[in-house]
Amino acid sequence: IPVRDLLLERIRDVADYPKPGVMFKDITPLLADPAAFGALTESLAELCTRHGATKVVGLEARGFILAAPAALRAGLGFVPVRKAGKLPGATLAQAYELEYGTAEIEVHAEDLNAGDRVMVIDDVLATGGTAGASLQLIRRAGADVAGVAVLMELGFLNGRLRLAEELGGAPLEAL
Ligand code: IMP
Repeated sequence: IPVRDLLLERIRDVADYPKPGVMFKDITPLLADPAAFGALTESLAELCTRHGATKVVGLEARGFILAAPAALRAGLGFVPVRKAGKLPGATLAQAYELEYGTAEIEVHAEDLNAGDRVMVIDDVLATGGTAGASLQLIRRAGADVAGVAVLMELGFLNGRLRLAEELGGAPLEAL
């Protein structure tokens, strides 16, 4: 069966999580199935290669689970972008807007450099706020953006639109 169907079959909808009115996309059944997890890893690695990435950024926390094996499969290093306060070394930080309030993400400054071409990987693109902030971090570090690759894009939240400026023509791939 096509990879897309295999992936779709293993994503669970959980109603009213983490709060009433939200339909949460749960990827744990997919991770527990080596055929689906393997196909996803393979697809993400292929996107890294196709778009000429030289490094892979994973977004905390579920992005780590997908980005690390994909990076290795593509023969590339993995760089974690974490929520503020989790990285021990010198960091670059980027704040971004949430529905209520703001959030902040960080990366070790030494992990991203001029000449790097970075693919950002996460599980879900919702409003695009998190991915957008990571693209700002990458550019502030002097690196180039190869693209953003996610398992799922929640189209009704228009994240692709919000991200257009930060993408600056780089591809947004949703499997
Ligand atoms: P955004 O910043 O609004 O695009 O939200 C994306 C972030 O929230 C990602 O890091 C996702 O892991 C997480 N997220 C949002 N909605 C879901 C969901 O339904 N399932 C899993 N993660 C989600």
